[in-house]
Amino acid sequence: MAKQTVVLIPGDGIGPEVSRAARQVIDAAGVSFDWIEMPAGEGAIKEHGTTLPDITIHALEQHKIGLKGPVGTPIAGGFKSVNVQLRKRMDLYAAVRPVRTMPNIKTRYDNVDLVIFRENTEGLYSGIENEVAPGVVMSMKVATEKACDRIARYAFRYANRRQRKKVSVFHKANIMKLTDGLFLKCARRVWEEEYPNIIYEELIIDNACMQLVKDPTRFDVLLMENLYGDLMSDLCAGLVGGLGVVPGANIGEACSVFEAVHGTAPDLAGKDMANPLACIMSGVMMLNFLWDTRHDQASKNAAEKIKAAYNTVLSEGLHLTRDLGGTAGTKEFTDAIIEKLK
Ligand code: ATP
Repeated sequence: MAKQTVVLIPGDGIGPEVSRAARQVIDAAGVSFDWIEMPAGEGAIKEHGTTLPDITIHALEQHKIGLKGPVGTPIAGGFKSVNVQLRKRMDLYAAVRPVRTMPNIKTRYDNVDLVIFRENTEGLYSGIENEVAPGVVMSMKVATEKACDRIARYAFRYANRRQRKKVSVFHKANIMKLTDGLFLKCARRVWEEEYPNIIYEELIIDNACMQLVKDPTRFDVLLMENLYGDLMSDLCAGLVGGLGVVPGANIGEACSVFEAVHGTAPDLAGKDMANPLACIMSGVMMLNFLWDTRHDQASKNAAEKIKAAYNTVLSEGLHLTRDLGGTAGTKEFTDAIIEKLK
């Protein structure tokens, strides 16, 4: 099999530190990739005059697999979100975010095991906003049958393949009757026509928030549109130890980009304080994806080794980062995982 090239996008804030850690761990696990670093985010503006240079897009088009650190987005003004642009340009329509209880990480609940499927290309993230009159601004929520249908199909296919029992759709179709109504209609149709073996439920999202914090173990696969998926990802991260332990994948037909749920965490950037685990786990998702889609045995072996290594480091509890209750820095934690791979 030809050697896979992975497009590494370090990003902003803690991105360079956590993506470097992920690359080091993957290399140490014995899988041999060619890595090419590509710019995106605030850091790309100086050299390329844009936050999402064409060379980065072209590299993703060519190599089809990316591992990405977070990128900064200014609040209330400034340039458009790079993540939103990238997801739209590459049509990375499915965000997949597994949220699981981690060994030795004390939280309110045991046995949390959720997978969030977030529609990644439309909804209120379409970025269609305007000022209709002085003091009156509008933001357009877009839902298309094509996008609602394909995210539902992706979530159900995943649930079926992994023997997951239930898909819960979170919505607000009582208020947004057309947009969320279409999302529900598509999910219901995919379930009825193709996956009646899976338990299906629909929850209004405010109720879902309450149910999730009360007892997350009653949930399994969660399916929702873009904004709800963004918010729910952080809420669910809080159930298992925070943003340092939740990885993600952005899946498209032509290309897939793997990245942690967390942002740039400017408060930690450059201080060797970030937890790189979510980015490392995103790397493991990338390896598993290469196994699922290309049957690359070396990737599968490396994924299993890395998972065992970080689970051991967590269980031993000697090198935990601060967000997990320890005192280790990014480097110490990464080195501890690499040590277990030897
Ligand atoms: P952005 O604007 O890019 O979304 P942000 O700081 O607003 O960045 P996050 O990056 O998601 O949002 O971080 C929220 C908080 O969670 C951070 O201030 C940080 O304390 C914590 N956090 C996020 N990621 C990590 C991590 N990998 N390790 C440790 N703490 C983290």
